[in-house]
Amino acid sequence: MRVRLASLLVLVITVLSAGSAHADVLPGLPAPARALADGVWMFEGKTEAFARGNGGNIVNTGFIDTADGVVVIDSGPSRRYGEAQRAAIEAATGHAIARVYVTHAHPDHFLGNQAYADVPVLALAPTVDAIRIGGDALAANLYLLVGGAMDGTRVVVPKAFTPEGDGVVTIGGRRLRLLALHGHTAADLAVFDETSRVLFAGDLVFFERAPTTPDATLADWLGALDRLQALPFETLVPGHGKPVLGPEAIAQTRDYLTWMHDALRDAANSGLDMNEAMRLTQPERFRRLAVLEAEWRRSVSHLYPAVELEALSRASSR
Ligand SMILES: [Zn+2]
Repeated sequence: MRVRLASLLVLVITVLSAGSAHADVLPGLPAPARALADGVWMFEGKTEAFARGNGGNIVNTGFIDTADGVVVIDSGPSRRYGEAQRAAIEAATGHAIARVYVTHAHPDHFLGNQAYADVPVLALAPTVDAIRIGGDALAANLYLLVGGAMDGTRVVVPKAFTPEGDGVVTIGGRRLRLLALHGHTAADLAVFDETSRVLFAGDLVFFERAPTTPDATLADWLGALDRLQALPFETLVPGHGKPVLGPEAIAQTRDYLTWMHDALRDAANSGLDMNEAMRLTQPERFRRLAVLEAEWRRSVSHLYPAVELEALSRASSR
């Protein structure tokens, strides 16, 4: 028995080291920037869960070039990502960074802030609070999931700002409309460039990738999608997934969240426990979404306790 355990251990170590030998030399760096319109770019992340092989680069970030410098939207999952992102932006535009907007308080969107210590890094007030209170725990968890790509990363808390009036700020002659929404988290910022009609929707919109829900309020999220849908955008950059022309990604996110809301309520009304709810099958039209099974199980664990309580109180008030 001891011999078999020892050889098993050797096997495990061999498999682990083979895995790291095949990984990228530097996992977690942004892909080359992709131009979406004149002066508007994105860095497209993988549609995967956090893993060592992707170094946390599972997120879309972007930037908008103006005559008074560059506006960056989200700084990515690590110091390494943020520094490479900034170098790529400065090389592509030849301009200095004017400011960074952090869309929301999830670690893949703000842990590159260290690379922007000398410029304003701005976020909605509830986002700032969430990062101040929970940022270190989120960073520690991401270290566990992606490992060395996070080396040297620490939390830099953004400064709070509130969009005024219609939310339009003009930077270097470019009008950006900033929308303070919520539902994916307690505060979700969307950035709409009026010139190019490119909308950076943050994680209010996912495309061909199952949405994440650790801090979600589904009814609010659906309301935020209505607000985004009303904008005269042409190209939408989701927080995760490919950029898309027109409202298709909003419709897909709405369809999924609505189905999830109804499926959880029906499961609770029929008395399913959490494990049974996790085993529900998703409709055919969602099966192609990346990370579907894992995100569904996570969503049930996040959302089901409250849905069950609601079902119980409805039943007992009858
Ligand atoms: Zn995200």
